Amino acid sequence: MTQPATEMILDPTKLPNTTTVSQTKELPKVLADFKKYVDSKFCYYSEPAGNADLINVQKKVAYQCHMKILMEGRRLHWEETPHPWGGNETFLGSTTLGRFFENTTRYGQGMGDIWNDYSFALPSHDKKSKIRRHLPEGNYLTRCTRCRGKCIVTCIYCLGDGRINNNTEYCSQCHGAGKKRCSRCKGLGGFLHSPTLVVKWHTRKSTWYCQNSYLPKKKIRKGTRTQFWSTRIVPWSERSSVENAVQSVIENAPGIDLRLNIINHYNDKHLKPTRSKSIIMRRFQCTVERMDFEEIQYTMGDNYTNKRDSTKGTTFRFCQYPGPKGRSTIYENDYPLNCCGCFGPTLACYSCCCNIL
Ligand SMILES: [Zn+2]
Ligand SMILES: [Zn+2]
Repeated sequence: MTQPATEMILDPTKLPNTTTVSQTKELPKVLADFKKYVDSKFCYYSEPAGNADLINVQKKVAYQCHMKILMEGRRLHWEETPHPWGGNETFLGSTTLGRFFENTTRYGQGMGDIWNDYSFALPSHDKKSKIRRHLPEGNYLTRCTRCRGKCIVTCIYCLGDGRINNNTEYCSQCHGAGKKRCSRCKGLGGFLHSPTLVVKWHTRKSTWYCQNSYLPKKKIRKGTRTQFWSTRIVPWSERSSVENAVQSVIENAPGIDLRLNIINHYNDKHLKPTRSKSIIMRRFQCTVERMDFEEIQYTMGDNYTNKRDSTKGTTFRFCQYPGPKGRSTIYENDYPLNCCGCFGPTLACYSCCCNIL
């Protein structure tokens, strides 16, 4: 029986370093992370990144803000149903004249203002919802304009004669009566008008970002943020003060006026589009999440100039931020050797057309 040969385990740290030929110096942690990022890109040429010099590291802040306004709409829905009109009032002994003089509308006690005199519990959720409330105090009657409350109308086939064909035949429509039940009011003489107040709610939502760096919105959205500030104010209306609502926002990041940012967003995206009588604001909610990260400036010597932003000269930058699941992630958009870098330094150039990346 032969013994299986024992495997020799190599310790990679003890092997001679023969593969790294270009890295000539020890990079600071942020640039070493950046070099790793550049190496991971198929089309990037990474040698200059290995020789980069750090210019500075700045603390930056990005905010993701959500605003939710509960909107309420109210309208009256009127239903018209045939209803007994009654009242054969007479005038000078004549019911016909009496009808001429009587009011054709009979009002009930009347209802209040649909916005101010009726209150409803607001929905606690953000979904669309609707409530209907019948308001019997708003009921009123109208006289049928066709039969004028008489409930019967002259037959239009025999014109009231009851007979047709030169009086030789009974009219089949009115069976000889010359009159018919009024079809509009179903022979009741009038109509009942009854109002139902329909109240609808929906939540108007918006999301926006502010920062003192240049991360794309998508990166902030996918990054790892922490709750920074939140408020929920009920009742709320167009006359409520958003300035008071954001007073507790304590902001210390240079270059960001978060409070003003929220006020402007509210005015532009929520208040201005709501100047209508049929819809009002009822609840104000705002949440702000914060992401702290670093913006790093570096240079790779005079041979490489910033082609995305020529004012930066030989300075380049990238952001290192907490990406999905808190993983440290790099974002850059000006590394000069990001196209065809795999074919060597002479072909590598900055170009937007590289669609591999
Ligand atoms: Zn009628
Ligand atoms: Zn008839």
